[in-house]
Amino acid sequence: MATLAELEVEAKACTRCPLASGRTKVVFGVGDPHADLMLVGEGPGRDEDLAGEPFVGRSGKLLDRLVGEEMGLRRSELYIANVVKCRPPGNRDPRPEEIAACRPYLESQVDLISPRVIVTLGKFASQVLLDTTDGITRLRGRTYPYRGGTLVPTFHPAAALRGGDEVVAKMRADLVRAKRALNAPRPASPAPPTVPAPTLFPGVPA
Ligand code: SF4
Repeated sequence: MATLAELEVEAKACTRCPLASGRTKVVFGVGDPHADLMLVGEGPGRDEDLAGEPFVGRSGKLLDRLVGEEMGLRRSELYIANVVKCRPPGNRDPRPEEIAACRPYLESQVDLISPRVIVTLGKFASQVLLDTTDGITRLRGRTYPYRGGTLVPTFHPAAALRGGDEVVAKMRADLVRAKRALNAPRPASPAPPTVPAPTLFPGVPA
């Protein structure tokens, strides 16, 4: 498998879907490549497209603040990426074929970083990683086992900016849930199957 740096080089030249034609910069992801916590959003907005970094606008500032206050973590201590790495025009929702084209990058990022906890921000990231069509209101409020770690769905910070105190309070509760998961031991891997010792001579114990 490629390294994270090799994957980033590949993504930065990617033309697998039509979003390539409208982007300014590919927004691959930033942060600690060995982070225990990974945040996954939907896709770059205007500020992110210009900066080449996820969550740098108003919603990013809110996200940084909430993660700092509820989890005691700075941006440099985690890893942040999006489901699609290029900006959908006019900030429209990413289309299913664009998500499908970009999905291998996100899955490889998750495999390479192997975080203990993933917080999915909003409907798209939660649905893609949990492979469901349920909405975020239904998905959030609990944790899910995910690739040897834990997945915690919450609202997208842009929804928190629109929704005000009530949504922010729910996001805070989800981040507290994520912190608890971060401090808990990793779920144990299933024990390998027991193989009976070979019998050299039928009827005579080995
Ligand atoms: S959104 Fe993903 S798949 Fe589409 S061009 Fe950008 S990097 Fe490639």
